[in-house]
Amino acid sequence: MLAPVIDPEGAPFWRYAAQGELRVQACADCGTLRFPPRPCCPHCRSFGVDWRPVSGHGRVWSYVVPHPPLLPDYAERAPYNVIVVELADDPRIRLVGNLVAEAGARLDSVPPERVRIGAEVRVVFSGDGLPQWVLERP
Ligand code: ZN
Repeated sequence: MLAPVIDPEGAPFWRYAAQGELRVQACADCGTLRFPPRPCCPHCRSFGVDWRPVSGHGRVWSYVVPHPPLLPDYAERAPYNVIVVELADDPRIRLVGNLVAEAGARLDSVPPERVRIGAEVRVVFSGDGLPQWVLERP
């Protein structure tokens, strides 16, 4: 099964995602966004935490197309893409995910040759609350 491993710091991210909402951890004191989630603000060292809704728009900052040998659950889906998305809200925030044809589509629903660095994308959510990305202009 390809389920995320959820730790206490990241649990709110997944709770919001299950509701179809993309939120990023922010410092409750200085407001700096941070990802991945962690207990302390690297900017002001505050332990205050807030979860801010973000636009869900971004650009492909980088990507890979994994090739075998892969774990069995992934091997049957290859070739597929793994993209790093730079959020429009704050380019220092980058999320890892998959570019898919539509919400809930398979990892291999976009051919690897269609993935481009810099392409504008927006977040969608699979039926089980996994953030995925689709092209703004398919
Ligand atoms: Zn701070």
